[in-house]
Amino acid sequence: MMDQVRIGAFIAERRKAKGWTQSQLAEKLEITDKAVSKWETGRSMPDLSLFMPLCTLLEVTLNELFAGECIAAETLRAKADEVLMDVITNWLGRDPQESTACDPASQTVLDVENVSKLYETASAGHGTEDNAVLAVNNVSFQIAHGSLVAIMGASGSGKTTLLQLIATIDKPTSGAIRISGQNIVDIPDEAAAEFRRSHLGFVFQEYNLLETLTLYENIALPLTMKSVPKENIRPMVQRISEKLDISAILDKYPYEVSGGQRQRCACARAIVADPDIILADEPTGALDSHAARQLLDTLSMLCREYGATILMVTHDVMAASYCDRILFMKDGEIKAALDREQKNKQTFFADILKKIEWIEGESHAVLEIVNP
Ligand code: ADP
Ligand code: MG
Repeated sequence: MMDQVRIGAFIAERRKAKGWTQSQLAEKLEITDKAVSKWETGRSMPDLSLFMPLCTLLEVTLNELFAGECIAAETLRAKADEVLMDVITNWLGRDPQESTACDPASQTVLDVENVSKLYETASAGHGTEDNAVLAVNNVSFQIAHGSLVAIMGASGSGKTTLLQLIATIDKPTSGAIRISGQNIVDIPDEAAAEFRRSHLGFVFQEYNLLETLTLYENIALPLTMKSVPKENIRPMVQRISEKLDISAILDKYPYEVSGGQRQRCACARAIVADPDIILADEPTGALDSHAARQLLDTLSMLCREYGATILMVTHDVMAASYCDRILFMKDGEIKAALDREQKNKQTFFADILKKIEWIEGESHAVLEIVNP
């Protein structure tokens, strides 16, 4: 069993060894002093997204953190996996037997081929020097129909840029992006909005919904814009709303409901017009862990039951552990990919942590804590 008190004492010991007060550690992690004090007395555990930054600051490995002690290199491997699995199972709970709806003959929905994006000039307010940024560097990957795929990477690694290229919001400097076979790189600006309406769905971290419309009107919007006959719209909105457990609040405005409910509404709106692919940038970023889990369950349900294809940017390991496949970005490149295959969430979570440790170990970069 995971021993919170022991882990807390270990955090305190390593913090003191660094010569930091609780407030100093809290400040570095952009959290409250109270949170650090709670960890150290064993009353709570760090949030999942804080594991990597905390380990980096305290100069311990994840396995050492979970074991609550420094582990000699020789015994690390043997002990590590055992401790890690125990902790992860504690956190995520055990999976019910999940059906992995993996169709081997599934077709490719998104095909990204040798895509690069060079920002020629620095954005306003920054230096006057000619500092071009290769935000996306020769990236290639494919996404199969019905899969839930995550892009992970530190802040500034190019995740949002890549998503915007796929969203036809920005154009790549070179390369091809095909959605259901159509190369979207050639689409003229005027046609891009129409393409987005009929082929794409979006879920962002915040500002997803139009505040002056009710939830019902927000969800109906893509259908209205697609000129779906009026009498068909209500049953379509109602069906998806029931599925996402928001049917009782459809007459409310976004500011009247919780963050989790708003995000589920955003999911309903993203799926209702049956897009080729749903693009999500940090969809769980502003949610507490309960609402985040609920949203992730919703996203994977959309894939399993509605055949949705979802590409999600996240820096949260828990969010990534719900996915079928993870692409790890660093300095504009995809450095590694990880497939869930038949593994359960817990094993996959452990694999992801190890991969991040391996990738970040090369530079000791701290994983993104807060999305800017
Ligand atoms: P992430 O989403 O992974 O944090 P971004 O895609 O936002 O990364 O940024 C990747 C790189 O491109 C960063 O170095 C960033 O400063 C740069 N960048 C992003 N947008 C612009 C822009 N509009 N103009 C110039 N540089 C940009
Ligand atoms: Mg981003």
